[in-house]
Amino acid sequence: MSFSKLFFILFFIPILSNAQIFSNEECAHTEFPIFNTFSEKKGIKINEYLDLCNYNHKIQNIKYRIPIKFYIYRKSNGKGGLSEKEIKEHIRYLNYYYSTNNTGLSFYLRPDIEYIDNDKLHKLNYISQAPFQTIKRKTKGCINVYITEKFKRNRLFHVPKNFSGTYNSATGGVIIANGVSSSTLAHEIGHYFGLKHPHRNWQSKVKGEPVSRTRLIPGTNTRMCEKKGDGLCDTPAEPKLTKYTNEKCVYTGWNVKDKYGTVYTPATNNIMSYTRNRECRDNFTPEQVALMLFTASTKKNAKNWSINNKDAKNYDFDYFEPDNSKETASEIFLRTRQTHTFHKIYTGKKKLKYEDNTDFLYFKLKTTKPQDYIIYLSESNYIFPEMDVTIYKNDKIILKKSINSKNKKIALKKIGKGKYFIKIHKKNDYKLITGYKIKVEKIKLN
Ligand SMILES: [Zn+2]
Repeated sequence: MSFSKLFFILFFIPILSNAQIFSNEECAHTEFPIFNTFSEKKGIKINEYLDLCNYNHKIQNIKYRIPIKFYIYRKSNGKGGLSEKEIKEHIRYLNYYYSTNNTGLSFYLRPDIEYIDNDKLHKLNYISQAPFQTIKRKTKGCINVYITEKFKRNRLFHVPKNFSGTYNSATGGVIIANGVSSSTLAHEIGHYFGLKHPHRNWQSKVKGEPVSRTRLIPGTNTRMCEKKGDGLCDTPAEPKLTKYTNEKCVYTGWNVKDKYGTVYTPATNNIMSYTRNRECRDNFTPEQVALMLFTASTKKNAKNWSINNKDAKNYDFDYFEPDNSKETASEIFLRTRQTHTFHKIYTGKKKLKYEDNTDFLYFKLKTTKPQDYIIYLSESNYIFPEMDVTIYKNDKIILKKSINSKNKKIALKKIGKGKYFIKIHKKNDYKLITGYKIKVEKIKLN
């Protein structure tokens, strides 16, 4: 595990990493036999695509900002299902995996999370319910993600099989189960952007991908790795890794061979693989990045998601989103400045203005002796809006103040030990994106 991942997990992700992981966690995405129209349609090769787009995959370089809409299935009484805090962590993990691999894709949450309270749907059935649900509930202009308590397929004379998630290429919906690993949403969204499993068809005598990267399809100049497996040559051929890796992400299939007698030497960290411990997965290869960017460019909403869109600035969200409630409030550490924006949500409809107008933050004071603190708001790269700021100690409001460009300080006199929430609400509509910087500091007030 890289240091940055460890850092991220320690500081930001307390919930998902402790979540129960299905022992038989498996992605139910079915792959169609017709594949790899990439090079044929465009007359270009996937490994040349990044150069062609002048895309440097060694640095993070956002090309698309994509809204995600969540549908949460709960019991009829509203119990169960994913909390807002867990949704926030899903979005953070998704952005973590896509940004550390410099995919050029970034994601933000639509705040209109939909809850479906129904005992009959609470555990979605793979065949009889899931496809119908992804057709019935669908929002334009975003990726639709459905979260169910359990995602199961009944089997004749067998116990039902539980899946961790799926991408339905016919309806465009992504379904994941509650309590899956932190890389599962990134994996399913990888399918959404055209990626296949590197072990695809590995057991097939005819279609299996050879280990060799130079073996040609007989009678052609095309390398087999461009057509077989996941159709990418920088993801090594591999067997299904669930059986051939251990909990520590080590490959254990030393004697497993392809049909030419060559032993497999797979990576165990690819997000699209079935590594036994799904937490091993944190990598996309450059060709995977290329294929995802290519697929993104072919999506109906590509223009609206693109940062070249003339309105794209309006969708610039900050690292702390979503933070629209106390439950999803972001912690601000003393003497540390944070930058926040009030971004617009791309909805696919011209008239529907959807803005993120509220930010919740919190800070904790540990000293028992009451002291004076000050909250400084300051200009960021964007317009500084008029805002209402409310300070709570736990659930009690202790102060309310209007903030504008002339009046940006909030003094908190003699406050003691506890958890303080700061609610920041943008007052008016602005044509352009707005934002601010914020810092909390101990000070001696007169
Ligand atoms: Zn999959």
